[in-house]
Amino acid sequence: MTAISKTEKQTTLSGIQPSGKLHIGNYLGALRQFPELQSNYDAYFMIADEHSLTEDYEPADKPAQILDVVAWFLAAGLNPRSSKIFLQSFVPEHAELTWIFSCVTPIGELERMTQYKDKASRQTKNVNAGLFIYPILQAADILLYKPLIVPIGEDQTQHLEFTRMIARRFNRRFGETFPEPRPRYTTVPRLMSFNDPLKKMSKSWPGGCIFLEDSPMVIAEKISRAVTDTSPTPGEMSPGVKNLFLLLKEFSDAATIKHFEKAHADGSIRYSNLKTALAKDIAKNLAPFQKKYVTLIKQPKKLMAVLKSGSQKARRVAQKTLTEVKQKIGLP
Ligand code: AMP
Repeated sequence: MTAISKTEKQTTLSGIQPSGKLHIGNYLGALRQFPELQSNYDAYFMIADEHSLTEDYEPADKPAQILDVVAWFLAAGLNPRSSKIFLQSFVPEHAELTWIFSCVTPIGELERMTQYKDKASRQTKNVNAGLFIYPILQAADILLYKPLIVPIGEDQTQHLEFTRMIARRFNRRFGETFPEPRPRYTTVPRLMSFNDPLKKMSKSWPGGCIFLEDSPMVIAEKISRAVTDTSPTPGEMSPGVKNLFLLLKEFSDAATIKHFEKAHADGSIRYSNLKTALAKDIAKNLAPFQKKYVTLIKQPKKLMAVLKSGSQKARRVAQKTLTEVKQKIGLP
């Protein structure tokens, strides 16, 4: 482990793919923590455009998708002067270190990755090699900045373990270079879809997903259709109901939470009332955030300037790490 002094801030890195609209899973699982990470860490926030190329996409849509994520980052409270907000493809060291790491990665380790198997089974017409080596790029994203803490949702546990394995293998083969980053789980590591509460909430199932830009009416409509259970058993929660209570705890006040918990415990609960209250509270919480986003998204030049300057700062650190790596592996 790399030694750090008490006054020096630990490094952390978090990223989001620009591959469509962001949803409340991204908010609760990532964005909401960003201001706190910015205050307490030497923080890097990456827009993972190279990762997003592994899915089907329209090239013409990509620039707007990238700026959209920058706007949400700033709306969430990130300050470009305190954090490094950067674009993965503006820092070519990510792709270069990916190649170097691929030469210390056993293929069997990649074959075990559940996200690869899941995505390969969903996009059967586009099972590209990028999808397969995705965890190596992710390991490069992280290790270039040598963070000790990486905030993740439950879906990323296996990939972070993979990153730690790469760090160990590299250190063993070429000498101590990378610290092994530890996960920091969010309070909502896995928000489920409203349509199918056994599946993670994802933009791939838009009906079961609240997008950050959804209006109060759309939010109410989506929640009204959420799967609950037909015959509630006092004290027991189906996965769909559990998911609604999880959201209630994140967005509602203590009295509302207590009221519905009691109603659930004694069997008097009416899910339509729970859904109405929840939809109202989600819309209320998102409103100030949406207002900032609407102003920011009208300023594409400013968003691009943020990205360019953050990428320059990130690149200086990435270049230093890559130079160290090249020396260790014997490249001039
Ligand atoms: P991605 O869209 O895969 O780039 O994810 C960006 C961030 O959002 C990651 O930190 C994910 O763990 C988090 N995230 C995505 N979907 C969910 C979800 N359904 N529940 C909790 N966190 C999520």
